[in-house]
Parts: sequence; structure tokens; C-alpha cells
Amino acid sequence: MAAATDAFPCAEAPASVHGTNAPAVCSAAARAQRLMGRCGVPPVDRPIRIDVVDAMESDCLGRYHCGEDRIELLAPDAMHDAVTPDGIFAPMTPSTLFESVVVHEFVHAAMEGHPCPFDACPATQEYAAYTLQILSMPAGDRERITKRVEDMFDAPIEDMELNPFVAMMAPDRFALKAWAHLLAREEGCAFVGAAVSGRATLDAPAL
Ligand SMILES: [Zn+2]
Repeated sequence: MAAATDAFPCAEAPASVHGTNAPAVCSAAARAQRLMGRCGVPPVDRPIRIDVVDAMESDCLGRYHCGEDRIELLAPDAMHDAVTPDGIFAPMTPSTLFESVVVHEFVHAAMEGHPCPFDACPATQEYAAYTLQILSMPAGDRERITKRVEDMFDAPIEDMELNPFVAMMAPDRFALKAWAHLLAREEGCAFVGAAVSGRATLDAPAL
């Protein structure tokens, strides 16, 4: 637990940071808010606590704790050490990786309580989190991921391929498929807003 560290309030995002790298967290959270606004995803509208920690219980890089308005993130170097060596995030620098994961988790925070036509919409959640994370990256990192999906998939990605099982078991693969799927949408990132609002849906009722 991050114990008695003082909170660092973000000026441009509804967040306060406990732990190291607070200015980087704040600028990434503000970037997430702007991106969500641009793509038609309602941004975070309540204060979120963000803890930057040296170790996490799960093997995640970051995590949004549902119902607690709290995000936990590994510190940049620990996070960089934790990525899969041949994974899509491995070529990023620790600081750009870290900021992109802030965006991913901030999107999860924004989506809590959003309308979902089923019991839960985990595929839509991860779709929004990964595509906005990739959109937030510096152009060079984004282009590298785009090149990778162009080399990898020679057929369009169907909605059904973007399912919660892939998101859980093969998150890198889900992220690449989500990015390929978004690149093929004529409306661009407005599709993310449509998915989040339930106008387009990737999830299905529980069996
Ligand atoms: Zn996620």
C-alpha cells in the first residue's frame, strides 16, 4: 500500500497521484480526457486516486479498481521490466509506456457505470482502453503497431474476434486486433464513442 505519501493533485484532470512520477501521470490523464472528448467517450467526471507502486500483486502493469475510483500503476522502470519481451509494448521507452498505460486505466475509470446492454461489457471496455492507449502514443510507436497489424492480419477483424476471452488470455493479441479493427472503421475513433454508448456493440449476452 502507498501509505502516507501526500497526494499530488492534477491541474487538468480529475485525479490525484500518490507516489512517484506524478507530473507524468497528470499529463497522461489529461491526454486521456482530451482523447475521450475527441472520440465521443464521456470523460472521467469524478476524482480518481492514482497510486504509483513498485510492485503489484497480479502480473498487471496497471489496474483500475472497480467501485473504488482508484488506479494502481507500476512505476515506469518496474513496468518496463514487466512487459513481455517480444510483446507490442516492449520497444517503447519506460516513460512512453508508462504514460500510455495511464491512458488505458483512465479510460477504464471513465467507463465504469457507462450504459451496457448486457450484464457486463468487458470486450467493449478493453477495446476502448487499448485503442485510446495506442492513439495516445507518440507517432513512432503508433506507426510501429500499425505496421505490425498490417503484417499480421490479411483479413478484416470481425467483431466476434474481439471477445473477452482473447482480452484475458492474450491481451497483446487483443490489442492488435482492436487496433486493426479500428483502423478499418470509416468513422475512425468515433467508433469507440459509439461502442461505449451502446450504439455499436462488441459484447454479447452471457450464455
Ligand atoms: Zn484493460
